[in-house]
Amino acid sequence: RKYLKMQVFGEGGTPGSCDLLVMESAISARDRVGVQDFLLLENYNSEAAFIENLRRRYREGLIYTYIGSVLVSVNPYRELEIYSKQNMERHRGVNFYEISPHIFALANNSYRALRTERRDQCILLSGESGAGKTEASKKILQYYTHICPTRNNTHTIRERLLQSNPVLEAFGNAKTLRNDNSSRFGKYMDIQFDYKGAPIGGHILNYLLEKSRVAHQNHGERNFHIFYQLLEGGEEPLLKRLGLEKTNPQHYHYLVKGKCPRVSSINDKNGWKVVRNALTIIGFNEDEIQELMEIVAIVLHLGNIQFGEDEEGETHITTGPQLQYLSQLLGVDGSVLKEALTHKKIVAKGEEMISPLSLEQALSARDSLAKAIYGRAFTWLVQKLNQSLAFKVYYSSKCSSIIGLLDVYGFEVFQHNSFEQFCINYCNEKLQQLFVELTLKSEQEDYETEGVRWERVEYFNNKIICDLVEEKHKGIIAVLDEECLRRGDASDITFLEKLEDSLGGHAHFVTHKMANGKIRKAIGREEFRLVHYAGEVNYNVSGFLDKNNDLLCRHLKEVLCQSGNHIVSQCFHADELMDQRRPETAATEFKLSLAKLMEILMSKEPLYVRCIKPNDAKQPGGFDEVLVRHQVKYLGLMEYLRVRRAGFAYRRNFEVFLERYKSLCPDTWPNWRGTLPEGVATLVKHLNYKPEEYKLGRSKIFIRFPRTLFVTEDALEAK
Ligand code: ADP
Ligand code: MG
Repeated sequence: RKYLKMQVFGEGGTPGSCDLLVMESAISARDRVGVQDFLLLENYNSEAAFIENLRRRYREGLIYTYIGSVLVSVNPYRELEIYSKQNMERHRGVNFYEISPHIFALANNSYRALRTERRDQCILLSGESGAGKTEASKKILQYYTHICPTRNNTHTIRERLLQSNPVLEAFGNAKTLRNDNSSRFGKYMDIQFDYKGAPIGGHILNYLLEKSRVAHQNHGERNFHIFYQLLEGGEEPLLKRLGLEKTNPQHYHYLVKGKCPRVSSINDKNGWKVVRNALTIIGFNEDEIQELMEIVAIVLHLGNIQFGEDEEGETHITTGPQLQYLSQLLGVDGSVLKEALTHKKIVAKGEEMISPLSLEQALSARDSLAKAIYGRAFTWLVQKLNQSLAFKVYYSSKCSSIIGLLDVYGFEVFQHNSFEQFCINYCNEKLQQLFVELTLKSEQEDYETEGVRWERVEYFNNKIICDLVEEKHKGIIAVLDEECLRRGDASDITFLEKLEDSLGGHAHFVTHKMANGKIRKAIGREEFRLVHYAGEVNYNVSGFLDKNNDLLCRHLKEVLCQSGNHIVSQCFHADELMDQRRPETAATEFKLSLAKLMEILMSKEPLYVRCIKPNDAKQPGGFDEVLVRHQVKYLGLMEYLRVRRAGFAYRRNFEVFLERYKSLCPDTWPNWRGTLPEGVATLVKHLNYKPEEYKLGRSKIFIRFPRTLFVTEDALEAK
């Protein structure tokens, strides 16, 4: 093999020191623009040099760069010819450092580790909305389904794994101001492999779908894709059955709130074909597909239900045909439905009383109904997908290892931020916290516990913000829940006041009342501001209590339990009506599910993809330096680089290290009888490691440069 010493450029493009050996044949001259691993950046303390390197590479279409084993990716906003099957083949079985940075190389790396070390892996994608997380996760899945070995029958599972994406995206993604295909739910997907490394199943966990979008969209945004896809692409007889003969989205109130029913980058007609096909491949039968589409139609008809007031001030429905469609599609009696939409049931002293809803209450009940049906149908959909992805015993004896893929909604700031942004940004705080814990903190603590000399690198620990949101009794969620439980005068405004009482003085929390001067002006009277790790966000409290309570009135639930649509009747079960306990609030349920997610992720070996959005205009080639610098900062990339530069590229437990490389020293092994540390010391001496190249801790060996391990790996392969 021939190696090439890589040219490293410092600031101003002067050649700097050389640190890494790269296989000449694998990397073309074009790929060698700048440094492909920031560890090689001569001036590694300079943010300007960091950004310059990103920019130079980006300009050449090189969107991937490493910091050690972390992959930094910059959204190209155009199709690159680097994801072909041939390119996948090129990455199969190749060492991480032998080939230029690529999402496939990272995927391959985690797969190799899974196979050789038998440890479950997880790949965490982070970055703000529109930075490229979802696209990256799809590329990873494509890579695994293409390069992993096949076994009898596993092609079905591969297809299903791939086809789960378009289905979930149709129902869970929407056009927002930040991203034309923005994920409005969080997703964690396990890919299960058998002992031979063949993918044999999958499992999806979904997090908090942004249901409010069903009934309302901000200016310039759309509802979930599926609504437009069905109208644009649905076959005529189907649309007729669903009462959706009018196919222009303008006819449906729920589709025009954002005044942007059509988007040039989105082809809804084609989207429909893709989804329809995917549903069949996944194993939905025709009845199920029909019922799923009925739900989409139910939501659309609900949105068109209008109310009026008669002379006595009683609310009634003014749109007869919509009511009729609804009662047909839901399979419930028209008069029952009519009453449930305009009246509420109260049980007082054991007696049931019916009282009319005001116009405003009726509108709000209608919207809650639409959100509840859609939200629960989404969860049902994920359950169905899981049934279809569950590995079947006949494929192989059992699932032996897992690679998890985490793709959640990215950090988000709009003009108007509400409960949804609060949850999304809290979720991102938790992920950042995991990064801090598992890389910056644990990396440094490792040196201390191992007794290796080391100069500390300072970093911002965002635990303080996680606590501010989630701490028991005094965190924002606790205060919100308390207000939701309290009857009487509890309102969004009293919630804000309670927050001020309990959090006043916190460095990351401020309100209009608490602030002075310029800051005061920048925060509305109904807002609170959180200073997130990724920037300041003002949240408007209006709607917080309702959204957190997320209650659907009993009357409507009763109706849904009787529905003739099987999906609806499965989603709304009579048991729920009997249960007297109060369900968890939306925020608390989210908090609990995130805590569980953190546990899952902690039990696996993490790999990171840090995605960067180069410009706000979604423009190919545009590189907005201010925007990029901001992301580099809050993603903690400089700090991570410093930690890695000051430290060691690799660490391995003595046992793992010996097990892997002892065959390179056949004179000593297999008859060696000493202790582990002595064994490692002997092996290292035999391998000719220089003193500056490594350090021995109490239970681990630390290797400073990738090159050292690289050469050792090669020796192993050459044997
Ligand atoms: P996120 O999930 O981080 O919000 P997405 O992955 O949905 O962002 O990316 C937003 C858009 O950017 C995509 O719809 C696509 O147009 C473009 N994009 C992202 N990554 C790539 C890529 N690797 N190649 C080409 N286009 C991309
Ligand atoms: Mg996404």
